[in-house]
Amino acid sequence: MPLLEVTDLRRTFQVRGHEVRALDGVDVTLGRGRTLAVVGESGSGKSTLGTIVAGLQPPSAGELRFDGEPLDSRRLRGPERRRIQMVFQSPLQSLNAKYRVETTLTEPLRLLAGLSRQDAATRVDELLAAVHLPTNLRTRRPAELSGGQQQRVAIARALAADPELIVLDEPTSGLDQSIRGRIVTLLRELQAERGLSYIFITHDIAVARACAHEVVVMQRGQIVERGDRSVLDDPQHPYTQTLLAAVPGMDPARGRRHRAAVAADPSAALDPEPTSLEQVTPVPTDDIDTEES
Ligand code: ADP
Ligand code: MG
Repeated sequence: MPLLEVTDLRRTFQVRGHEVRALDGVDVTLGRGRTLAVVGESGSGKSTLGTIVAGLQPPSAGELRFDGEPLDSRRLRGPERRRIQMVFQSPLQSLNAKYRVETTLTEPLRLLAGLSRQDAATRVDELLAAVHLPTNLRTRRPAELSGGQQQRVAIARALAADPELIVLDEPTSGLDQSIRGRIVTLLRELQAERGLSYIFITHDIAVARACAHEVVVMQRGQIVERGDRSVLDDPQHPYTQTLLAAVPGMDPARGRRHRAAVAADPSAALDPEPTSLEQVTPVPTDDIDTEES
């Protein structure tokens, strides 16, 4: 059974007297431990999809099922909120600028995971370790952290709730190129350790290639192409081809060359802390057809 099933999802907005279809009949399925990359140009509906799944806004129509049960936004305000977390592009959307790191992490541990004050304090250290931050950062406020550190805290905050699905909305887009690969590596490591599922929204094709098991390509509120990660190497739809061609240095031919290089020398894939996305090996293709039981 898929963890998430979205059927014919619609969301319309009235903007100055005319109707904007942010989502126009979207179907999505996601298994446990899997990553669905959602790519598409700005305004194509990616964030609307993510925030509806995360329960931050209701759909206009359509069905969402999570772990076999209908998911409605009312339910997401209760204890069920724990199960789906969201990380935004700007860590400052995920983090309260006034809170020290320990307060940011303690809040969901107490409210969503239901821990005692003492247990929460222990978990704060574990969470910082899980995202590879030194524990002496626990008294810092967001302004006293680098962009990469802030995003690690935002990820730790999402983990604090002990979620099954994390919606990541452009989590690497505000970061320097050199930091992006590290955040992608961290997210994949956490996925492997915890069996997390991700909806990974990105307009960065290199990031999508590095983390996706499956891909959907959105245009004007609709999914115009879908498939496994190879969609990014060999797109069939003209819109996807245009999207890939528009990414500097990440045309499909280069993606194919990169895969060939890794196939020829797998040790290139073993860099534990890649500094660029070119060095991040895509998730193993073997995973792609593995059915969840
Ligand atoms: P993306 O994340 O792919 O850039 P969005 O989901 O943010 O796209 O937006 C999809 C479309 O819906 C855009 O045309 C956007 O202007 C519109 N939209 C999104 N949220 C709102 C809103 N709250 N009110 C009016 N229009 C909105
Ligand atoms: Mg967006």
